[in-house]
Amino acid sequence: MIRCCDRIVGANLVFALQKGDDKHRPYIVVETKIKAVKDSLRPQTLYIDSTIADTPQVDAILNQLRLPYHIIDHSTQLYDIIHNTTDPISSGKTVLFLTQNKGQFIKKCPGTSYYTCCGYHILHIGTYCTMDCSYCILQSYFHPPVLQLFVNFSDAERELVDMFSKNQIVRIGTGEFTDSLIWDQWIELSSQWIQLFSNQTHAVLELKTKTAHVLPFRNIEHRQKTIFAWSLNTEWVIATQERGTASLEDRLEAARQCESWGYKLAFHFDPIIIYEDFEKDYTSVINRLFSVINPHNIVWISLGTFRFMPQLKSIIQYRFPDSTLPYGEFIPGVDGKMRYFKPLRIQAYRKLYQVIHDIAPGVLVYFCMEDDEVWQQSLGYTPLQHGGLKRMLDKSAMLHCSLESKLIS
Ligand code: SF4
Repeated sequence: MIRCCDRIVGANLVFALQKGDDKHRPYIVVETKIKAVKDSLRPQTLYIDSTIADTPQVDAILNQLRLPYHIIDHSTQLYDIIHNTTDPISSGKTVLFLTQNKGQFIKKCPGTSYYTCCGYHILHIGTYCTMDCSYCILQSYFHPPVLQLFVNFSDAERELVDMFSKNQIVRIGTGEFTDSLIWDQWIELSSQWIQLFSNQTHAVLELKTKTAHVLPFRNIEHRQKTIFAWSLNTEWVIATQERGTASLEDRLEAARQCESWGYKLAFHFDPIIIYEDFEKDYTSVINRLFSVINPHNIVWISLGTFRFMPQLKSIIQYRFPDSTLPYGEFIPGVDGKMRYFKPLRIQAYRKLYQVIHDIAPGVLVYFCMEDDEVWQQSLGYTPLQHGGLKRMLDKSAMLHCSLESKLIS
């Protein structure tokens, strides 16, 4: 059963009630709402899992967002609503589902044995995003994709404290299944994690974003255990493929502010898109980055060319008809993902690495999900020659963020 707040009980629901049509009631009401707002791609309606409806976290978000809301007993009620809209991928961004994570908050990043994996961990705080990038993997990852936040924060905290007690260095981030910072406009979320991480020396938290919402983090005692990370791309890619994201200038300004507050930083050139003049454009972004950020405060920079599961192609074609992204020279990789032809990837990596290395030779640059041949031909070495990629990244985190050196194997 769906319980609604008074404000959104419209004519359709009254009609359904009069007919005693309990089975279809929620669908009739909410479909109307979603259709009306689908172009804005912002949450317009809240759905609240009845098991957490009375919690202070939900109260805080309700007070902040002041949106119509429904309390539901089963997530499938909302998923069915989204599935039945004409564009579920857009509709999933117009609702916000507050629920609890009934599984593990901490997960290992799902790498594959075919490509060099970095041993990253994910702090699974929620799913999906209010921004809208054409290439976003999340469009085809969840069925259906729905903006949802897990509000049982104390369970996450318990898992983190347990993780801190182990004799290992952990790099963990909230930005794998969502953007790390979209939630902080509605609730103090990342601030909680930053404070928690500040009290230990075994782990670093990476907050990865395409927003520029950093003011809430100005006065937090972080002890450099949080790394603020930005996905960077060229002005052309941002303007044509990244709807609703912060401009390059705003991202760099946000990074500069975080640096001035003592935070360590990371940058991800991912996805690198190959197009005419792309080398010139990415070189310009790299130059702009180092004109505002001191390389000594950068823990790592990753490079990753555009790759996608085949099913994403038709989604991009349908939702972003002007995008030329799906029409590059792609071949299927051993993990089933489409990638640019390997010589093209190597050429792109060589060029961008050289530009970074010339300005900031001490900054650790790594590839996300590439094989030894790409490493060797692009950088002249493989991670194994430096103890493995996990060790390389752990060591950089240890040095920049003052983690315990004895934990490096
Ligand atoms: S910012 Fe990240 S999570 Fe959000 S739509 Fe873009 S790629 Fe997806």
